[in-house]
Amino acid sequence: MANIGFIGLGNMGLPMALNLVKAGHAVAGSDMMPKGMEALAASGGKAAKSVIEAAEADIVVTMLPAGQQVREVYLGAGGILAKAKKGTLFIDSSTIDLATARAVGAEAERRGMLMIDAPVSGGVGGAQGGTLTFMVGGPDAAFEQAKPILEKMGKTIVHAGGAGAGQAAKICNNMILGISMIAVSEAFVLAEKLGLDKQKLFDISSKSSGQCWSMTSYCPVPGPVPASPANRDYQAGFTAAMMLKDLKLAQEAAKSAGANTPLGAEAAGIYDRYVGAGEGGRDFSGIIRFIRG
Ligand code: NAD
Repeated sequence: MANIGFIGLGNMGLPMALNLVKAGHAVAGSDMMPKGMEALAASGGKAAKSVIEAAEADIVVTMLPAGQQVREVYLGAGGILAKAKKGTLFIDSSTIDLATARAVGAEAERRGMLMIDAPVSGGVGGAQGGTLTFMVGGPDAAFEQAKPILEKMGKTIVHAGGAGAGQAAKICNNMILGISMIAVSEAFVLAEKLGLDKQKLFDISSKSSGQCWSMTSYCPVPGPVPASPANRDYQAGFTAAMMLKDLKLAQEAAKSAGANTPLGAEAAGIYDRYVGAGEGGRDFSGIIRFIRG
């Protein structure tokens, strides 16, 4: 059993923390909002009084919205790296920019601590079911120590390379996801116009060359995949604002690396307009309503 601090108990963090509790670990959670901490405390975990208290642990997992919050929580005088004990293992599972991931990883190393960037794929369903995919960047020793913990929250754990490699994998993956969700949405909208039944399109495409996660696991029309957010008025899930963040991270990375990503750029523009229309809090699969017009 390990003493684990868990910072960021939102849509993803709370179910991940609960899986660590279920596995028999002592988990102290911290969040700016009380809801996640109350839910953790009601299920055998503990509510920490602050991020610093949560970081008084052997292992600290963070699941925060973006790079800005990761910098706030880790770096600076009041940050957890300045307060945690030497040898603490930090696992940041937030999806953030490479520069922040590398800066925080370097600072942890400088202070004699171990750190990995370990963003995830699999959504809230994967977080609840403990079936997430973890893409890990960081030193071998940190990866080996983190692996048994990650295995309690995920099914596929891949060591992608040094610091930042997990984030690189994540933004590449989510660029595929943003593009594919738009593609699947366009296909359903076209089918509607052509008088083709949505269930028939699903039955065919989910078994044909149009098959992809956006179609078979997260279908953007209600009906074919009962668990998808389309069946509950596109309640997130994974918000459109988060998808826009990831697509922008991919564009930033593509620009600085000189990679040509025209569909990624187009997808970022479409999500930017959707979020600009006030739908940022909606699930990202709600993009179909925007496409429908
Ligand atoms: P969320 O907004 O539901 O949760 C983030 C939590 O962090 C919130 O509860 C918030 O109150 C808390 N928080 C923010 N700043 C804080 C601070 N300074 N101190 C303590 N707590 C703070 O977001 P989420 O959907 O759980 O996503 C978290 C991360 O996981 C994001 O980087 C996202 O891109 C990534 N992600 C999300 C999904 C998904 O399906 N939701 C899937 C894969 C990856």
